Amino acid sequence: MAVIEVVQGDITLQDTEAVVTAANESLMGGGGVDGAVHRAAGPRLADAGAAIGPCEPGDAMATPAFDLDPPIRHVIHAVGPVWEGGEYGEAEVLASCYRRCLEVTDGLGARSLALPAIATGVYGFPAAQAARIAVATLRSTPTEVERIRLVAFDQQAYDLLTAELAAASDRTHVQSDSGQG
Ligand code: ADP
Repeated sequence: MAVIEVVQGDITLQDTEAVVTAANESLMGGGGVDGAVHRAAGPRLADAGAAIGPCEPGDAMATPAFDLDPPIRHVIHAVGPVWEGGEYGEAEVLASCYRRCLEVTDGLGARSLALPAIATGVYGFPAAQAARIAVATLRSTPTEVERIRLVAFDQQAYDLLTAELAAASDRTHVQSDSGQG
């Protein structure tokens, strides 16, 4: 099973083989984390995105990482849901993003992946619910990825993700304890 960890930092500076950006459907670059990834990867990233896009919300597509520093070799462009109050399938679309990120990474043969808190910036998804979905989906999706790193940009996201991860592993321990008893 993959090890899931939480760090606070910048997605462009991670020592993983693949990093996820929270893209818009065009895959040609945007603000927030996507702006940071495109700046660090250089202009070829937008060209590569344009060549494979557009990408539907809930899906993810891969390009090379261009000028990002090794070991990062792949950028996974995931398109999150725009939050419209929660009754338009936003939670399922967000879960789908995380599943697709793992599937696409598996397809590339990469074994380590860093992900930002998709959709919690300009797209407006509530951070606590997003953290719950991120952790639950990454834990329940079968994958060959060995190291999954959730990268929180601010303290609030870090605290939420850390708490979700701790709660999820507590539940697992309770289940396996009772299974043995
Ligand atoms: P979206 O449009 O999907 O909401 P944003 O980029 O606006 O995407 O925000 C997604 C999350 O990425 C937010 O929690 C934001 O704080 C975070 N973020 C912004 N810049 C970076 C960065 N360089 N590295 C990691 N996370 C970042």
